[in-house]
Amino acid sequence: MSKFIPQSSCADPEDKNRLSIDAARERISALIKPLNSWQRYPIRDALDRVLFQDIVSPINVPAHNNSAMDGYAVRSDDIIDESFDLKQVGTAFAGKPFNGKINSGECIRIMTGAVVPTQCDTIIMQEQVDISNDTISIHGQHRKGQHVRYIGEDIKTGAVVLTAGRRLVPSDIGLLSSLGIADVNVTRRLRVAFFSTGDELKSTGESLEIGQIYDSNRYTLFGMLTRLGVEILDMGVVPDQKAILRQTLADAARQADVVITSGGVSVGDADYVKEMLAELGQVDFWKIAMRPGRPLAFGKINNSLFFGLPGNPVSVMVTFYQFVTPALRRLMGESQPDSITLQVTCTDKIRKRPGRFEYQRGILFTDSDGHTKVKTTGSQGSGILSSMSNANCFILLDEQCEGLAANSIVSVQPFSGLI
Ligand code: AMP
Ligand code: MG
Repeated sequence: MSKFIPQSSCADPEDKNRLSIDAARERISALIKPLNSWQRYPIRDALDRVLFQDIVSPINVPAHNNSAMDGYAVRSDDIIDESFDLKQVGTAFAGKPFNGKINSGECIRIMTGAVVPTQCDTIIMQEQVDISNDTISIHGQHRKGQHVRYIGEDIKTGAVVLTAGRRLVPSDIGLLSSLGIADVNVTRRLRVAFFSTGDELKSTGESLEIGQIYDSNRYTLFGMLTRLGVEILDMGVVPDQKAILRQTLADAARQADVVITSGGVSVGDADYVKEMLAELGQVDFWKIAMRPGRPLAFGKINNSLFFGLPGNPVSVMVTFYQFVTPALRRLMGESQPDSITLQVTCTDKIRKRPGRFEYQRGILFTDSDGHTKVKTTGSQGSGILSSMSNANCFILLDEQCEGLAANSIVSVQPFSGLI
């Protein structure tokens, strides 16, 4: 049973022991060592995985000087006037070069992408010539080297094209294939075990007694973890019983690199959970100056990292995106771009008390004049999961903010930048 110890409640903005969001991130970061093992995969299977090594180009791109236009390849020495004639002595197609000789006064027909013969250095567009039999009459002003794509112009042999720590996107696997690279080394898959805690929780398919609720945190965690590309180990719902909790945590830590739980870390629960986690590992309990998502437990159980997220469904998602996502991405060896925030007009009035950083749920939209604006999803309770489904961004309100009048400028963090 949990014993009562006097602590300030979650609703108290005057709490002296609270930790700032940045300080919490730094403490998490200090415990993270990126995985140091890799797997080799065909490039298609490496999509969304994190590169373990730099990729160096084995070839020049383009591999040869080639034509950027359909037209005629000429020697620039022959361009003597605004109008001159050349004799066509052959044709070069993409993938089918012309291997003959081209003397002064001669040219070849050339297609886009075809190799420019060494004797030629300039391309004349087909629209700028008149043809009669094999004589080509060229008009207009032309510049030496025009319409030629040069060898190595895009990528030189030996150049680093993708750096270690990059999460591969579709254009990357296209780029790798354009260099003839079939397999790459990526960080091994991270294993993450997670479970929900709470006597009141039932899973879908079960019926509810009075006071019971369906577990949603395991499902949002499943979704967020799947998007991150980790191997997941769903350990179900664990009742608030010390022995079962201890056993499940120990099992999880034995099998996974990271263990994530939800619930059971708020005031009142925290004391017995604290006691148990102290037996199993080194875990700190933090009150973070944020809303939602103030209670957070973090530390290590044996060699696994442990995140004890709050129980409220929105708090789980906010703390996951703000703390767990960056931590897992670093563990996977990913070098992270700063998340994008935008400054936009908020059409709604916002209510807020000073003292904590707030992540309110917002909807970015484009108004009839084409301006991007944001409105709130309405009620901001930490249990209102539909506010996350309705939202497409977080509205970021710093600790000092005391609420805002309608049409104030706010910072938002679009959800699309979070995965
Ligand atoms: P706790 O931190 O365990 O006291 O939980 C805080 C609130 O979140 C309570 O109202 C719980 O019923 C609710 N809650 C905890 N875990 C879950 C879950 N897995 N799914 C939905 N609600 C939950
Ligand atoms: Mg609970």
